Amino acid sequence: MARALLIVDVQNDFTEGGSLGVDGGAAVAAGITKLLESKPGAYDLVIASRDWHDPDSDNGGHIAADPDYVNTWPVHCVSGTEGAEYHPALASDRIDVHIKKGQGKPAYSAFEGADDFGKTIGEVLQAHGVDELDVAGIATDYCVRASALDALHDGERVRVLTDLVAGVADATSRAALDELKAAGAVLATSADVEE
Ligand SMILES: [Zn+2]
Repeated sequence: MARALLIVDVQNDFTEGGSLGVDGGAAVAAGITKLLESKPGAYDLVIASRDWHDPDSDNGGHIAADPDYVNTWPVHCVSGTEGAEYHPALASDRIDVHIKKGQGKPAYSAFEGADDFGKTIGEVLQAHGVDELDVAGIATDYCVRASALDALHDGERVRVLTDLVAGVADATSRAALDELKAAGAVLATSADVEE
């Protein structure tokens, strides 16, 4: 069996200075790189997702001119733009599988996306015999939450690396971690990751 790391949406638009930047986003990018470099044998597979929205579209009601920051959001992560790229501090050369999601629709969970060959994360994990999935990234209270819940639903043993996530708001981020723990995820940190 194998262990994988899922890096959720560590993109320029979700980090400081981006159109929907969260505090701590750049530190998450650097922290994930540090983990991968300090424990190079920790993961059999590294998967990363990117929100990847259509230009000039509300993407199924996901993007609004007057967003409520709950169900609607400002323009972010438009396909092919700088804002949709991985944060420069993230070691993107260490990513084995690149998932894109949200083309023309809202997609909080990375499990709703697919790689360049049309494979979902569920299919990729199954093909590689992955039974343990560590989850890190942005945002704790939205896409990390939804992705980790889907991983649990898929039968993975899930750890959320709480020092390598950043959220939109403190209260909802704490609630998301509580919900994930109640659903069966282990709340761990990068220090707990076995080499
Ligand atoms: Zn989005």
